[in-house]
Amino acid sequence: MRADLNRDHLVPLTGIRNLGILAHVDAGKTTVTERILYLTGAVHRRGEVHEGTTVTDFDPLERDRGITIFAAAVSCLWDGHRINLIDTPGHVDFSDEVERSLRVLDGAVAVFDAVAGVEPQSESVWRQADRYGVPRIAFVNKMDRAGADLDAAVESIRERLRVTPLVVQLPIGREDGFTGVVDLLRMRSLVWDAGRDTVMEGPVPEALADEARRRRRLLEETAAELHPAALEEFCARPEISAPTLTAALRDLTLRGEAVVVLCGSAYRNRGVEPLLDAVVAYLPAPPDVPPVRAEWEGAGQERPADPAAPFAALVFKVHAAPTGRLTYLRVYSGTIRRGDVVLDAGARRTERIGRILRVQADRHTETDRATAGDIVAVAGVKAVRAGATLCAPGAPLVLEPPVTASPVVSVA
Ligand code: GDP
Repeated sequence: MRADLNRDHLVPLTGIRNLGILAHVDAGKTTVTERILYLTGAVHRRGEVHEGTTVTDFDPLERDRGITIFAAAVSCLWDGHRINLIDTPGHVDFSDEVERSLRVLDGAVAVFDAVAGVEPQSESVWRQADRYGVPRIAFVNKMDRAGADLDAAVESIRERLRVTPLVVQLPIGREDGFTGVVDLLRMRSLVWDAGRDTVMEGPVPEALADEARRRRRLLEETAAELHPAALEEFCARPEISAPTLTAALRDLTLRGEAVVVLCGSAYRNRGVEPLLDAVVAYLPAPPDVPPVRAEWEGAGQERPADPAAPFAALVFKVHAAPTGRLTYLRVYSGTIRRGDVVLDAGARRTERIGRILRVQADRHTETDRATAGDIVAVAGVKAVRAGATLCAPGAPLVLEPPVTASPVVSVA
């Protein structure tokens, strides 16, 4: 067992982020995922999409087609938080699988191409995420490309997705000369060293100081328009403090009232660390989302994200791995251990839980239990299909993820 994943047990429920990456095919979802796994130490070799060596696209069929067809859930650690990354297919042909993944996410990063902005598929995936009430932040990728234009991409987010963008960075350099960003919350620059993959923090470059102040003010004005605490500080002080602004942006994200926008170039390994920080800062932990709704024999009930409650989990993927059949679960309540007997509520059949695994794409690490809020794969479960509910035999239920037209409700 790897030492870093052993520490997973110490991550409290509030430190978990069940995250999806949503994108139009080719916007860079696979590359962003790769960089996240690289930076969090889940993989120690950087994969390259064009070489067919990326970690999330481990199925040969996916490699052949160059798109992610099957969702893979990958666990990684960032700054004391556990990020369970659920890979969602970007291709429109596989939207059923996108929807199934969306059921188990608490939050998502929407990746856009800095040249193309919002493309038709990004719009349809965005609408699906709206239906499931998944809070999102946006990452405008490919800032290094000729024709990359953050402002134009942000305008397309505003117009085509009809959501208020909250741009928290100012790019440093254009296209091939894109080297970093100004963090408009802390008013610091982050510049990536091309040769060494390191990020250097410093003051805002003199040449960008006026523009950075103007954009910070714009961010404050937008936050003040939408959020009472931000408005209070905006009126009372020369500027909204970074903690208040962060809290306001988080609230607005969780309520689906606005979208925080960051930028970078995943391919050049620029901008992914602040993206991970933003995932932690703005996207919800399992207790932040409403309790999952469930039903049994006509009676509705709710299950909170409580490790002590009766066990209930949704199977969101079944995968034939080289080591045997793996059943991917989102645990909504309770705790399971190896050897536990659970009920497949729909099929009214019991199953025994075998090994419980945290998945790092095509590698697995055994863990002794999984608790509410967690995403794991289990071995030994024989006949359960994707979409099924597994629960404690003494407390049967079928999970019913609410799908409504309202922007933010429970994703569970
Ligand atoms: P996906 O289909 O959304 O998973 O996109 P990929 O990650 O497979 O990327 C599509 C193509 O864009 C690949 O050739 C990548 O190498 C390339 N790409 C990804 N990120 C960047 C970036 O930041 N800059 C540039 N110039 N190319 C990128």
